Amino acid sequence: MSKRTHTREDQRLRTEFYEEGVLLDADPETRHLADCHLCRTRIDYEAKPGTTPDSHTLDHYFPVDDYPELQNDPENFRHAHFNCNSSRGKGEIENGLGEEMPAWW
Ligand SMILES: [Zn+2]
Repeated sequence: MSKRTHTREDQRLRTEFYEEGVLLDADPETRHLADCHLCRTRIDYEAKPGTTPDSHTLDHYFPVDDYPELQNDPENFRHAHFNCNSSRGKGEIENGLGEEMPAWW
């Protein structure tokens, strides 16, 4: 069982974090801060989050399954590509049995 929750608050934080990324990405001086923390390349902020492999997702630096108390801690948030985040899984599992199968899969 996943300890991850899906509340209105989670959604709000997720959206805020994405919007912060959009702003960082729009300015060449801060763009690097909005890059994917896993592969260090630019994220497609024009795509709706989680809809394409290059679109934005919120990755938790410390996996929520192991650190459920950090799920909504912005210090634990990292910008990532949807694809990179999916293949990372929890960090140790190569091909994790995903909780949510992406629509484009
Ligand atoms: Zn990436």
